[in-house]
Amino acid sequence: MESNNTLTDGCGRKINYLRISVTDLCNLRCKYCMPKEGVSKLSHEKIMSIEEMAQISRILAGIGIDKIRITGGEPLVKKGITRLISEIAQNANVKDIAMTTNGILLRKYAKKLREAGLKRVNISLDTLDARKYSQITRGGDLLQVLDGIEQAKRAGLSPIKINTVLIGGFNDDEIEDFVRMTMEEEIDVRFIELMPIGQAAGWSSKNFISNRAVLEKFPGLKKCNPSDKSSPAEYYRLEGAKGKVGLINPISCKFCDDCNRIRLTSDGKLKLCLHSDYEIDIINPFRRGEDIKEIVVNELSKKPKSHHLEDGDIIKRNMVQIGG
Ligand code: SAM
Repeated sequence: MESNNTLTDGCGRKINYLRISVTDLCNLRCKYCMPKEGVSKLSHEKIMSIEEMAQISRILAGIGIDKIRITGGEPLVKKGITRLISEIAQNANVKDIAMTTNGILLRKYAKKLREAGLKRVNISLDTLDARKYSQITRGGDLLQVLDGIEQAKRAGLSPIKINTVLIGGFNDDEIEDFVRMTMEEEIDVRFIELMPIGQAAGWSSKNFISNRAVLEKFPGLKKCNPSDKSSPAEYYRLEGAKGKVGLINPISCKFCDDCNRIRLTSDGKLKLCLHSDYEIDIINPFRRGEDIKEIVVNELSKKPKSHHLEDGDIIKRNMVQIGG
């Protein structure tokens, strides 16, 4: 760590971004993310409380974290979520606070989240077809998500980004519909390459398609200048479009060199890389009153230089237990 509250890892990368998975429970069962029966419920004492998450965030914001994303599981099923947002938003060191959600409960929460200090949301949506949505999520209702997007707009959460995992044979025929959404509305649509992790690890190679499919379908997409070098998305725009099209290519084009993030799981483990099983216990030392700043600063030297997904590396946790 340097003196001016900057965290750096062993490769010299500046680490300023914390993603907190506030729960590993979810109100959907997306086939590539979560087993049909869900994940086994962790005992109450293993899970970090809202107060603990807020305090740990405050400590890390004091040593260089200035961007925090709340994810899950589904963050909106976590009791006390608006209280957590409000606690984090009040910290002057945190410049950016965002959330990744499936959007099902946004119609109930969008306004409350905005009032609590949330700035923006990423909403996961893999299809615009109600029947396919119910199929991939094992029972989800597309209309609830679309209503949630509307309420998020009304509440002033901005920008709104739609995250669409591109799955060969499932939604590659909808690329056009998603891209067209950016014409009329100030919404960014980001296509994410399906990663062979968790439930998707054993899926057929036909399901894994490159985001190049989007550029092939829309050769007229113009590349935008990167506004944030650490963003994993490359952004494009159709002429005259209000929103952008993002491509997130964890497989076909790694972005590890610019990785600025660490993750905290709902059971209080720090993960230095999404694709590594290496985890550092934070919650127990924190509960014992130990200095977690020192633990984090020391462990950062072990952040992997790069992932090896393309070599078939498989991690043990499901995505829902890490937070995408
Ligand atoms: N429940 C929230 C949601 O749906 O946005 C947050 C958690 S979810 C694990 C976060 C993101 O991870 C979602 O956009 C989901 O589509 C993505 N995801 C899960 N498994 C994935 C995989 N194997 N490859 C790519 N993205 C994945």
